Amino acid sequence: MSAVTESSVVEAVTKELFIGGKWTPAASGATFPVSDPATGEVLCEVADASASDGLAALDAAVSAQADWAAHPPRERGEILRRAYDALMARQEELALLMTLEMGKPLAESRGEVAYAAEFFRWFAEEAVRIDGGYAVAPNGTGRFLVTKQPVGPSLLITPWNFPMAMGTRKIGPAVAAGCTMVIKPAEQTPLSMLALAQILADAGLPDGVLNVVTTSDAGGVVEPLIRDGRARKLSFTGSTQVGRLLLEQCADKVLRTSMELGGNAPFLVFDDADLDAAVEGAMQAKMRNIGEACTAANRFYVQRGIADEFARRLTERMSALPIGRGTEDGVVVGPLIDEAAVAKVGELVQDATQRGAEVLTGGATVDGPGNFYRPTVLTGVPTDSRIAREEIFGPVAPISVFDTEEEALAAANDTEYGLVGYVYTNDVKRALRVSERLETGMVGLNQGIVSNPAAPFGGVKQSGLGREGGTVGIDEFLETKYIAVSL
Ligand code: NAP
Repeated sequence: MSAVTESSVVEAVTKELFIGGKWTPAASGATFPVSDPATGEVLCEVADASASDGLAALDAAVSAQADWAAHPPRERGEILRRAYDALMARQEELALLMTLEMGKPLAESRGEVAYAAEFFRWFAEEAVRIDGGYAVAPNGTGRFLVTKQPVGPSLLITPWNFPMAMGTRKIGPAVAAGCTMVIKPAEQTPLSMLALAQILADAGLPDGVLNVVTTSDAGGVVEPLIRDGRARKLSFTGSTQVGRLLLEQCADKVLRTSMELGGNAPFLVFDDADLDAAVEGAMQAKMRNIGEACTAANRFYVQRGIADEFARRLTERMSALPIGRGTEDGVVVGPLIDEAAVAKVGELVQDATQRGAEVLTGGATVDGPGNFYRPTVLTGVPTDSRIAREEIFGPVAPISVFDTEEEALAAANDTEYGLVGYVYTNDVKRALRVSERLETGMVGLNQGIVSNPAAPFGGVKQSGLGREGGTVGIDEFLETKYIAVSL
């Protein structure tokens, strides 16, 4: 195998639209640039689809739907399994590609490739476990036959923060269920998805089942696809703001929707917690993906008895993290995605300090090129600060102190978001009580990472609708059909 270099991994990707099993330029010939957020340098140009390209992709998905739905589930699963093997065999080059377009350190990109691949392995196993039912009707004479069928052509939209895993978390169940799809990756990170499309084609996915449309005009391409009416499903991962808009658009043709939206995760540490474990969990929950994760701990609430010691230890750990380009050895904190992200983090920190919060470490950008912000710990953060209400999406840990369990729960639930919450306590009754009362779709109980392809991932309140992964993940792409039988 030839050596994996930065230019070779970018070179290896076909930077065109993938429609009906063929690579094709945008009809207009337009392209848009993809940049390295650590340097600001342009890595390459990628085909820039317009609405007509999007509709051509939908045509391909619609044409392929009937044959694909009839494809043996075992073969659908085997395609996913081959794609899993290919992803793992090419983990190193795909990780480098991801780091170049998104910025996260190589170790985290390797982790994401493995996490992404695991969705294919999981749904390869689920493809052959789509169940149904046969029952006697209450009157004793009729029979109920219940079967599950693919929803149909699906629109998949993914964000830039996990450029591959947010795609496989949708493609895996869609393929397993027998749905065809048009996927639109984020403008800032299209390369991982384009590489993935070739891997799926090489694994034997029939033409037209997966179509990839890259564009700098998300709204202009996606809205006509939603309003067209032939797509039957939208699965979206991204901000709550865009999710709301897409839900309105989907109402028109009553599309099925899955929404994985923003978060504002509380991280509760009680006096009786194992402090070492809590600090370790805090580092994971805060710093995974440079803080640019929907599951990122956004607000730390620490009980008074251990608050100073927790803040001291967290500050020690955060201030020691090596910052730099994700391709460099030992780097743990890469750049944020763009200048706007750095500016937003800076504004949130400034707002908190103006309201009385104290900066224990960080609180500033890094000189030089790239979108870097220093790992930051704030204490004494007032609950009405913007940072306590908005998704930070950066390496900042705001700490507030509480006295009672009731007070902690009230603060934790005082948000329109409800994706995940973290709880650290060694009291088993409190652990279960607090976990049950947190208004979130997921809880990290004495652990700082919840994501697992075999578990149901998703939020409540304005963090979303539906679940991805686990045994329920495939249901998002299946319709239940009931056949009333007269004997
Ligand atoms: P975003 O701005 O909402 O974008 C997400 C995707 O939607 C991108 O592909 C984007 O395309 C597209 N998009 C933007 N405007 C659109 C429109 N009018 N019509 C159709 N598509 C549109 O979010 P982001 O900044 O990429 O990602 C960060 C957000 O995602 C955070 O809020 C984070 O919490 C959330 N997230 C949630 C989960 C979860 O599982 N709950 C996981 C990861 C991320 P362009 O890139 O071309 O604008």
